[in-house]
Amino acid sequence: MLPHRDPIGQSPHSFLREVEKRSGENLNLCYQCLKCTVGCPTAPYMDIRPNSLIRMIQMGRKKEVLESSAIWLCVSCETCGTRCPNQIDIGVLMDALREMAVDEGIHAKEKNIHLLHEAFIQSIRRGGRVHEATMLIDYKLRSKDFFTDLLPGIKLFMKGKIPLLPSLVKGRGEMKRIFERCTKAK
Ligand code: SF4
Ligand code: SF4
Repeated sequence: MLPHRDPIGQSPHSFLREVEKRSGENLNLCYQCLKCTVGCPTAPYMDIRPNSLIRMIQMGRKKEVLESSAIWLCVSCETCGTRCPNQIDIGVLMDALREMAVDEGIHAKEKNIHLLHEAFIQSIRRGGRVHEATMLIDYKLRSKDFFTDLLPGIKLFMKGKIPLLPSLVKGRGEMKRIFERCTKAK
């Protein structure tokens, strides 16, 4: 039987190899125990569960994987990597898949989610760690969606859960160099 070829035009093995190269994760170690998915806080909202995503990558289903909502709903909490008996870090894998989707010009189905990711990255770039207040203002300006979640945001602010002033990390010079190297590598 001829090997399955994804509509994007890659053989299953080349997609798997590319994902493994970009993420540094050995996905052939996965034996579908589901420990990642059971512990994942956003799995109930994903269109493809983390363990299934790995299986689909092994099968070369590039288009479905890169067009999935799952890769954008991962919050990089690292729970899956901690629970995995084979040390597969799906948070890192999701980063690689998001990068690949962006490179292929595939946009997230969820409205404005990529803008939130951009605001998040820029916040880290500025201070070395996320500062929620400025990140949210940045996101609101990018999306021009000024009223969604405004009330919960105000409540969190009033309770002191969103600090007004950023807490900057010491190694901001290093952070700057990391961002410069990432930009040059593109
Ligand atoms: S926990 Fe690890 S081995 Fe188990 S399904 Fe998830 S990725 Fe695969
Ligand atoms: S890192 Fe992503 S995939 Fe893994 S448990 Fe957290 S949200 Fe789920």
